Parts: sequence; structure tokens; C-alpha cells
Amino acid sequence: PPDINVANVQAHLAQLNTIANQNGGNRRAGSAGYTASVAYVKGKLQAAGFTVSEQVCTSCRYRSNNLIADWPGGPANQVVMFGAHLDSVSAGPGINDNGSGSATLLENALALARANPTLTKHVRFGWWAGEEQGLQGSQFYVSQLTSTQRSAIRGYYNFDMVASRNAGYFVNNINSATAAPLKAYWDTLNLRPEENVEGQGRSDDYSFQRAGIPTSGYAAGASATKSSAQAAKWGGRAGASYDSCYHSACDTTSNIDATVLNRSADGVAYAIWKTAVGVTTPTT
Ligand code: ZN
Ligand code: ZN
Ligand code: ZN
Repeated sequence: PPDINVANVQAHLAQLNTIANQNGGNRRAGSAGYTASVAYVKGKLQAAGFTVSEQVCTSCRYRSNNLIADWPGGPANQVVMFGAHLDSVSAGPGINDNGSGSATLLENALALARANPTLTKHVRFGWWAGEEQGLQGSQFYVSQLTSTQRSAIRGYYNFDMVASRNAGYFVNNINSATAAPLKAYWDTLNLRPEENVEGQGRSDDYSFQRAGIPTSGYAAGASATKSSAQAAKWGGRAGASYDSCYHSACDTTSNIDATVLNRSADGVAYAIWKTAVGVTTPTT
């Protein structure tokens, strides 16, 4: 797998932060800041050769679009999917929640395009609208799949808040076969990840899980408190939130830990290459 350049991910985050600043301070679904966020990600994907489509979420409280990007190649009936919500809350620019997951997936998509490996699975990326109103964009996407399309999706990987400053290292459904590549990558860094208890049922993987699709994902934690045992193994502050700016105006580019962001981005690359290319050796 490629080593994802964290500076490139940070550059996408700076662009999302600027988009919020130029549009009333947020990127909430249905707002100009959200529309501009979709346009930014879409432009990069199209330039790289992805097949990109916008899906109007007609059931979303604030009408807004999901963004879907397919990399040409791999069997159409065996799809591995990687997703992140692109909307923020109205309180702030949403750079950790969830510029971090969105930018991590964008740079991974661009890295896949640059490497252009022969694929054993088809790779699709999704950026969701209306997560902050209750997983609405991803729920709509899943509801529009035919049963054939739904059963083609062999796994869905979700990335929501992957660069928290007082980070934990959390993997969704950590003991599942689907989670194995994400867990394995952080295991090679001796991070000893834990189950993402705080995030259960609270992000877009839940929309896929309810449809019977195997899911996993990374998270570095939101408003819950780091335990002393977690601080002992991961560093940071026991008794403090993983992200003290969760859903706040201070969730800016200053609210990102670049080391955590790099570890998340590189783990995504490993998962893409492991699931869709068949590469089995992590690069660190
Ligand atoms: Zn890296
Ligand atoms: Zn949120
Ligand atoms: Zn989120």
C-alpha cells in the first residue's frame, strides 16, 4: 500500500476550513458550506479519473447531496465501500467531525488513482449528507439500493472523527473479519485498539449494518472521557474528552492531531489494498 502523505490530507482540511469560514462558519447539510464541500471533493475526484455522481437526498431534513465515487475496475458484483459524512453541525466548521474522515478518504481515493493497481474487488467511496440530523444521507443511499446492489457490497468501512487531539484508537466491530485489516494496521504500530463503544449506532456504518452489510471503521473519539488505563497506553489526558471541541466552534484545523490523522490515513490505505488488491504486508 502507499504511505498516505498526511500533508496532503491536512491540505484538504485547510480547504474545508476555508469553505466554512467563507460560508457563515459551518458546512451543515443544506447550506452553502456543504454544497461547496461537495464541489471541492468532487472536483478532485473527477480530475483523478473517478466516476462521480451526486445523489439528491430527498428524505433529508435539509435537502442536500450524497457524493459517490467509483474507481473503474474490479468485479461489479463484489464491491468494497469506504464512507464518511461530509456535513458538519451548524456550530462550527466540523474539521475533526468530520472533515478528518472526509479528507482521509479523499486522499486515499487519489492515492488509489495514482497507483492504479489491478483490483480483485470494485472500490467505491461515499461522502454522506445529513449525518448530523440522524444518519439521513447514508440511510437514503442504502434505501435506494436494489437487492442485487446491496448484496454486492461485501463490506462498508466508516470514518468519523479520526484525528481527535486526546485520541483513542477505536475500531468498529473490532473482532469481526471485516475489521481485521484496520485492526491489523494499528496493531503493527503497537496501538492496541479497542472497540468503538462510544460511536455504536451513531454514525453512517449503522445504516449499512441495519441492511445486513458487514461494517467496520476507525474513530479516535468524541465527547466521552479517556480512562486512566487508556491514557497509560495511548498518552494524552485521563479524565478529559477525546475531542474537547466536539460539535463546537473550535472544531477547526487547530483541532487535529496530525500523528493520529496519519495513522488513520495509512490504515485506510492498508485496508483498501488488503481488501481490494490482495496485498498482505502493511507498510509503515
Ligand atoms: Zn502516512
Ligand atoms: Zn457530529
Ligand atoms: Zn461525525
